[in-house]
Amino acid sequence: MKKLRPLSLYIHIPFCQKKCDYCDFCSFDDIASQIPAYIDALCNEIKSYSDQCKPHTVQTIFFGGGTPSIISVKHMKKIFVALRSSFNFASDPEITIECNPNSITEEKLISYKNLGVSRISLGMQSCNEVVLKNLGRQHNSKDVANALALLSKLDFKNINIDLIYNVPVPKKMANAGMVRDIEAEVNHILLTAPHVTHVSAYSLIPEEGTPLKRKLDFEELYELGDDVAIDEELELQDVLKLHGFKRYEVSNWARPGFECKHNLAYWSGEMEYLGLGLSASGLFKNERYDNTDNMSMYLLNPDKVEKREPRKSKEIINEIIMLGLRTTKGVDLARLEKLGISLRKQKHREILHLTDHNLLKVSAKRIKASDEGFFILNMIIDRLTFDFIEEKI
Ligand code: SF4
Repeated sequence: MKKLRPLSLYIHIPFCQKKCDYCDFCSFDDIASQIPAYIDALCNEIKSYSDQCKPHTVQTIFFGGGTPSIISVKHMKKIFVALRSSFNFASDPEITIECNPNSITEEKLISYKNLGVSRISLGMQSCNEVVLKNLGRQHNSKDVANALALLSKLDFKNINIDLIYNVPVPKKMANAGMVRDIEAEVNHILLTAPHVTHVSAYSLIPEEGTPLKRKLDFEELYELGDDVAIDEELELQDVLKLHGFKRYEVSNWARPGFECKHNLAYWSGEMEYLGLGLSASGLFKNERYDNTDNMSMYLLNPDKVEKREPRKSKEIINEIIMLGLRTTKGVDLARLEKLGISLRKQKHREILHLTDHNLLKVSAKRIKASDEGFFILNMIIDRLTFDFIEEKI
């Protein structure tokens, strides 16, 4: 019998209680009345893939957003009915739902478990009230503690928490030299919630057009500066290591065996995945595609892909290098050689320069960023990817 090919699904739920000040994701806080129509459209899009996806087995599903936990139990059940009737599920798929601390309830979590959800990703970002306020989040530290206690009570075994560091501070705090004690903060979280198995930690990037960027422009908030941001990252690394977490990607840490399979599939660059929902993107049958980010268009034609492009070999090569460098495993040189690229030869000078500065580690099979290299990863990626790949092959 022919083996079914693995497939991952990303499902976008673009609704939030209120936009956070730093957010430029595709999410809305003023169209809750459209949720039922959106769920119907999403289910239609899911069903439209049913025939094409018969040779596949779904190994991971990730509900992101927006705030997936904002939708009702009834709507979530409806999505799962569409999913189970359209796809072959693996026997033990990893199914993650992103939840905000103030939108999960015992009823929702119990129903997630019954639906087969195996992983919760809690968008807590911090449990420091000042930081949460500066981010414009809707929850407070008590909501975080309650959510983590609820997840423990209901015996969820695989829990990610999202954290943000390098968060700008109000003028008064900046002038007083007050800094966030991120080490104490994360230590407290992990001592009180030892059931957390995974941490995603991102440095905040102020995006154009967001309220946070405007506050920076009008000097209501101040950026911390590179030194403080690096100190926060180092403190974060130390405390995560102390609690038994291992970095496996530039922004992701896990207890052994709890690396996110959905992320790993994506970073491998080899797995196919469908992006379902408004603004979602996918890679299927060697084509990249993007769904529309216009809600009215999506509701009218949920199974119409806005942009579809065959994957070019130069993109695949740069992707192997870029995604590989983001992980602690590094770039698989043999995979590049199969595509006619000898990274060691073609980037000889750059590699020598970066290894001389302890930014890169080179072995017979792999090239990877060092701990120091992870701080300037974008620069390393720039140097090791190809601008004009056709001429260089
Ligand atoms: S909860 Fe997430 S998606 Fe929603 S507004 Fe905040 S950052 Fe954006």
